[in-house]
Amino acid sequence: MSGNASPDVSTRPQSEKLRILIVGGGVAALETMLALADLAPEYTDVAVIAPNTEFVYRPMVVREPFAYSAARRYPLAPIIADCGATLLRGELGWIDPATQTIHTKADESLAYDVLVLALGASIDKRYKHALTIDDRDLDETMRGLIQDIEGGYLHKLAFVAGGRMAWPLPLYELALMTAGRAYDMGIDLQTTIVTPESSPLAIFGQSASSAVGAMLARANIATVNSAYAEVPSAREVVINPGDRRLEVDRVVALPELFGPEVHGIPLGEHGFIRVDPYCRVPDVEHIYAAGDATDFPIKHGGVGSQQADVVARSIAALAGASVTPDRFNPTIHGMLLTDGKPAYLTAHLTGGHGFSSEISDTPTWSPPSKIAAKYLAPYLQERDRESTLT
Ligand SMILES: Cc1cc2nc3c(=O)[nH]c(=O)nc-3n(C[C@H](O)[C@H](O)[C@H](O)COP(=O)(O)OP(=O)(O)OC[C@H]3O[C@@H](n4cnc5c(N)ncnc54)[C@H](O)[C@@H]3O)c2cc1C
Repeated sequence: MSGNASPDVSTRPQSEKLRILIVGGGVAALETMLALADLAPEYTDVAVIAPNTEFVYRPMVVREPFAYSAARRYPLAPIIADCGATLLRGELGWIDPATQTIHTKADESLAYDVLVLALGASIDKRYKHALTIDDRDLDETMRGLIQDIEGGYLHKLAFVAGGRMAWPLPLYELALMTAGRAYDMGIDLQTTIVTPESSPLAIFGQSASSAVGAMLARANIATVNSAYAEVPSAREVVINPGDRRLEVDRVVALPELFGPEVHGIPLGEHGFIRVDPYCRVPDVEHIYAAGDATDFPIKHGGVGSQQADVVARSIAALAGASVTPDRFNPTIHGMLLTDGKPAYLTAHLTGGHGFSSEISDTPTWSPPSKIAAKYLAPYLQERDRESTLT
């Protein structure tokens, strides 16, 4: 991959494989790589550059504070080898689109024919006085809180989403599991969710949202919707509009997400990478993006995977495979963990809102994984099956 600038993709000889450089080692990066290995293996030469050596199954981290087993971690190298791709350890520093080269933070340069940016979002603590939901240390953050509830020291909690929603599910999952734990122990706990959404999990559409609302009510969780919260101290939430005040013992909040640190291409609001309906980055040649790093407002692994599939189809077509590019037309699948059975939510998304909304207590997609990804989900399911046999 390292070396001189690339020839124009359109003029390259058919015998040469298209060099694809994927930046990131998370859901969107792996889904892009697996999709390309299926759609255009003979036309593409894929390399993945990431700083991490493991892929962490982030959605299951919410169960760790409740003494379930740890979220699964998969070494990256064998996944990448299975796809015939090359793993490069490193971090993107900046991009020079004119020469189709990236420069790493360690000052190496790597040339590409097509670049895929799948480097996720950066996580910022939204409220100084709240516990922040951050999967890198969630067990540590939440475990003390659960112990204090079990010890009878805490009786009023608020779960708060700031102005822009980070990932949709974990706030609700943590509220439901915490309330369930208190109920099982016969402890009186008042739990309130404060969210800017017009109804609970509104992006999953009306019927799923109403069913989630009923589920929250049964769990004795109050919800304040269409609300913008401030947390002036560890024991107070101010709800706007209306300047209503909630007195609580602790506040748990979603973080605020920002776009990743990428230099050399124009960025959108809050630093997210702008993409068109084919997940191409506008105003630059041969650069695509997928996942939480993009300016699509819903940050969700299943949605990022669908962007990755769109990217892979476009690249496969560009590389010469007989594949037709598709526009991004997302459906969101959410497995909502509770203190009992999970609920399976699905909606087709339009303009960031769900319609054709569905909720079920049995899986409605296959495999029924937390991250509904066309290639990654069955691939990981097979890896899990193999590891239970060994
Ligand atoms: C607690 C929690 C629960 C969730 N629950 C669900 C759920 O139930 N279902 C669902 O679908 N989604 C869920 N999500 C959201 C989902 O995990 C994210 O949407 C998904 O991980 C985003 O994938 P990504 O590949 O875009 O980014 P990431 O997973 O963040 O991966 C980014 C990758 O890029 C790498 N990287 C970063 N900077 C650089 C750089 N400069 N150069 C090279 N590589 C770089 C990182 O090391 C990482 O490998 C949840 C998230 C959390 C935190």
